[in-house]
Amino acid sequence: MFNVTESVIRLFLFWGGILFFLILELVISYRPSSVSKLKRWINNLALTLFNSILLNLIFSAAIVGTAAYAQKNQLGILNLIEIPTWLKILVTVAFMDFMLYVWHLLNHEMPFLWRFHRVHHSDLNMDVSSATRFHIGELAISAVIKISLIFFLGASALGVLIFESAVVLCAQFHYSSIKVPKWFETIFWVLFVPPSMHRIHHSVIIKERNTNYSTIFSLRDRFLGTLLKDVDQDKIRIGVGAYRKPDQLNFHQLLAMPFTKPIR
Ligand SMILES: [Zn+2]
Repeated sequence: MFNVTESVIRLFLFWGGILFFLILELVISYRPSSVSKLKRWINNLALTLFNSILLNLIFSAAIVGTAAYAQKNQLGILNLIEIPTWLKILVTVAFMDFMLYVWHLLNHEMPFLWRFHRVHHSDLNMDVSSATRFHIGELAISAVIKISLIFFLGASALGVLIFESAVVLCAQFHYSSIKVPKWFETIFWVLFVPPSMHRIHHSVIIKERNTNYSTIFSLRDRFLGTLLKDVDQDKIRIGVGAYRKPDQLNFHQLLAMPFTKPIR
């Protein structure tokens, strides 16, 4: 039952979020696209659907299912100690978010993982469709690690569901090409990740790209020394230096990219 409800919530949040931010992008656009939005959307949605069909359906159910299994069988650290449910949920969300930060950092620092993660960074513009432009290899490796961590922690199933939903919505927001009022960005930066923060992470300049890894809480970057704030937003060029032409970035080329020559 939990799985059915969970899948419906996920689907609703995911497609509802895409539609909501797409409308915002049309109404309060941050800047005009430098390449065809339609072409990018075709490739990004093709990747998203390909991943969903082959992988997400199995793994996203397995991720919350693992937490429910660990809870039922009292496995993992949080099930060994007596703590209130709300605290368990809070620890689960904070721990999973921190692990996502570490995983993201490793994707930039380890050449093998970067082979896959560069597919995501090769997008030439950023908008809500970039939020799920990932290579299936990256998602498969991260899902296996995530499931192991849930077991190890004895994560709360509800905490995992809240975390997974928050990741989707936070990512859709900070990828969106929308004009966000400066006062809102300033307040949002303190705790969370606004579009300007993540835009720096997608810069072609490697020194800028290897910063701002957070997904939900910007505190990770702030305390671990990877925060970069002072960049002229209007001058940021999105993408990876080696891939500047849209005709290098079609669906089949994105799928093959991790197995082609290494680039930085
Ligand atoms: Zn990245």
